[in-house]
Amino acid sequence: MLLSHHPIVQNFMAEIQLKSVTKRFGDVVAVNNLNLEIHDQEFVVFLGPSGCGKTTMLRSIAGLEYPEEGDIFIDGKRVNNLSPADRDIAFVFQFYALYPHLTVYDNIAFPLKAVKMPKPEIQKRVKEVAAILRIEELLGRKPSHLSGGEMQRVALGRAMVRRPRAFLMDEPMANLDAKLRVDMRSELKHLQRELGTTTIFVTHDQVEAMSMADRIAVMHQGGLQQIGTPQEVYNAPENLFVAGFMGSPSMNLVAGEIQPQNGKWALHLTHTDIWIALSNQRMACVHQNAQTHEFIFGVRPEHIIVSKSQTESGLKASVHLIEALGSVNIIDILLGENPDTGALILFRARTHPAFRIDVGQPVWLDFDDKHVHLFDRDTEKAIR
Ligand code: ATP
Repeated sequence: MLLSHHPIVQNFMAEIQLKSVTKRFGDVVAVNNLNLEIHDQEFVVFLGPSGCGKTTMLRSIAGLEYPEEGDIFIDGKRVNNLSPADRDIAFVFQFYALYPHLTVYDNIAFPLKAVKMPKPEIQKRVKEVAAILRIEELLGRKPSHLSGGEMQRVALGRAMVRRPRAFLMDEPMANLDAKLRVDMRSELKHLQRELGTTTIFVTHDQVEAMSMADRIAVMHQGGLQQIGTPQEVYNAPENLFVAGFMGSPSMNLVAGEIQPQNGKWALHLTHTDIWIALSNQRMACVHQNAQTHEFIFGVRPEHIIVSKSQTESGLKASVHLIEALGSVNIIDILLGENPDTGALILFRARTHPAFRIDVGQPVWLDFDDKHVHLFDRDTEKAIR
């Protein structure tokens, strides 16, 4: 039987709607007019830099903060004025934060004992949850005798016994070492798929978000910047913030102006000799959607094709720095220099590790037009 069809898990289903939610702390607008619909069984990650309002939004859904404006609905019911206990959702704290002196059984039973549930019911629920999570043989152990993945299951079990409709997780893997985080990511994703429990997961780590989310909600300064699948957010950022935030190394973003060149329109990258030809289709989008001729040109490091010899449409530049990282090379390519500030205008390109080149050597750069991004310099919105 699929776990999501298990009778205990079926209680977990929930849809969460956020309508124009605003939460302030004095003059600070922590969450600013946020609208979002989280579907039943979905795994949504709130992603953004420190201070962007992720935790405040999560705490507002849990009922630990009360927004001044807007509405929060769980399964169609407005919960703005309900206490956390009445919202039927579980806030899952850091996975390793189990009570060290209690056994796994007592850790999982803890929330039920706290509400004075009768002992036979507690036993039944702990056993059910342990069976679902396949940790029955661990019930007598103390947390210090568990692996990281097992601790994660116990922490989830502790949340599940209350039969919540959704899990809310605030950086549960923070402070864990890198390898353990990687293992826990795939384990959590797998479990969430099996359980089908609606989950909101907060992180500032984009790799964590990309690897687990059904959809990522990118936040900045209290506002929702974009919501979409990891591929949508990565491949089609809607604005300059999302473009610069997603990806490591990040997208190359260089200012430029659209000007005529040899009877055609091209983007001249400021303070360089680089002119980028623009397709008719892209120029049609520019004419339709932009009020300016000033843009930010964006291209991801993996979408720059670097050649050692001249290509038909290649743009000539020179190698500034090479980082050989084993599985890839990251090559900094010098395009020009700002005469006022002395700042170098560079592209970072990702190449195959077998690609050999020396600092100072000339290279020719090509881009596939469908992997090139243009952002309006005034509105910072993508031109598509
Ligand atoms: P982090 O990743 O660092 O936890 P975050 O994206 O979760 O950041 P929040 O913790 O939601 O951000 O904070 C959003 C803004 O609200 C920040 O400017 C923060 O300083 C402010 N803030 C949060 N809680 C309070 C509070 N209790 N009192 C005053 N200001 C607060």
